[in-house]
Amino acid sequence: MDFNLSEEHQAFADSVRRFARERLADGALQRAHSPHYPWETAHMLAQQGLLGISFPESEGGQGGTLMHAVLAIQEVALVCPKSADIVQAGNFGPIRTFVEYATPEQKQRFLPDLLQGKKLISLGMTEPDAGSAVTELNTTARLDGEHYILNGSKIFSTHSPEAALFLVYVRFGPGLEGIGSVLVERETPGFNVGKPASFMNGEQWSQLYFEDARIPVHNLLLGPGGFKKQIAGFNVERLGNASRSLAVGRHAFNIAREHALTRKQFGRELCEFQGLQWKFADAWMKLEQAQLMLYRAALEGEHGLPSAQSTAMAKLACNEAGWFAANEAMQVMGGMGFSQEALVEYCLRRVRGWMIAGGSIEMLKNRIAEGVFGKTFSQRPTPSTHVR
Ligand SMILES: Cc1cc2nc3c(=O)[nH]c(=O)nc-3n(C[C@H](O)[C@H](O)[C@H](O)COP(=O)(O)OP(=O)(O)OC[C@H]3O[C@@H](n4cnc5c(N)ncnc54)[C@H](O)[C@@H]3O)c2cc1C
Repeated sequence: MDFNLSEEHQAFADSVRRFARERLADGALQRAHSPHYPWETAHMLAQQGLLGISFPESEGGQGGTLMHAVLAIQEVALVCPKSADIVQAGNFGPIRTFVEYATPEQKQRFLPDLLQGKKLISLGMTEPDAGSAVTELNTTARLDGEHYILNGSKIFSTHSPEAALFLVYVRFGPGLEGIGSVLVERETPGFNVGKPASFMNGEQWSQLYFEDARIPVHNLLLGPGGFKKQIAGFNVERLGNASRSLAVGRHAFNIAREHALTRKQFGRELCEFQGLQWKFADAWMKLEQAQLMLYRAALEGEHGLPSAQSTAMAKLACNEAGWFAANEAMQVMGGMGFSQEALVEYCLRRVRGWMIAGGSIEMLKNRIAEGVFGKTFSQRPTPSTHVR
């Protein structure tokens, strides 16, 4: 067992760090405060080979592994947190599920633009009445000749105001076995993207409306019974979310560390005060613990998809560590930490959202508890627990 990165992984991380410091450090604050996707930066990252890192070279990817993608997203986030969203979109998000299950023809049609940073794919999973209980989704898909007719609505989809393509979870029939997914192009008749609303983290989302939207049958991704496969792909998205939580928390930690080394009060640097030293000690320890869990999950999924249990544990650890570190960093920075002149408040807002997105911390604990006891616990009411 070796807790250090391999020479090859270290060299890859070093090269991404050098690139990020040279090309992404300038403008990091401005990018963070723009609600828009940084398209120019996306083109640059694509040219640098930072999109499709773990996808096969034959499909336009870089032929690397999930671990390389984790290292890349971390190194980018440590320099420019917002640019890490591009690494997420090009490696971990719905694009990863797409690459896993799409037909060669679908990949040929959509992948080149996605991997060149010219277009975005967004995930339509959550509905107004189906959040944590995602299997209660009600967006229906009915076969009608050469089309599926979609009716329903989705909320909170990341990048929805700017995406060209949507990976949409739909219901072909009743129960878990009735769930699958289709690819919806933005210009599809009967499909409408609502006006953008803002999350606390500055990201925008639009409600998606399907009113007899006509999806050609060749845009089917996974038919009935596809839900488990979709969630297996979604575990990679969770690891991207985990990686950013950790790295964005570490970003705030690093800013606060520099501040504590230089800012003087009562004639001493802040780092001389034990009350602040302990904040750094606690935060550093939590970050390092979560880092090991993240690498373990990434290595488990190095040549495929990571396991649900390791992913849940890694995401929970990274969400909590990132939040703790960013929150303590804000306190150490005082008023400057709370001001939009520094990136710390942005880091705090970002990591907070990931405690809800991609499996809330409560749902992750439910999953982990199932691993503890080796059995599943239905979250639905049984007749005896109904309130009458
Ligand atoms: C930043 C951000 C980005 C997102 N991006 C996307 C996206 O790209 N695509 C998409 O489809 N969705 C996206 N979402 C939506 C996200 O998946 C949901 O918000 C999430 O699944 C929770 O659903 P909900 O908001 O309806 O909360 P609810 O399901 O209503 O939950 C409310 C609270 O109750 C808790 N809770 C619910 N059930 C249980 C239980 N059984 N045990 C214990 N606690 C429970 C939850 O943890 C939560 O704290 C995003 C959300 C955020 C915040």
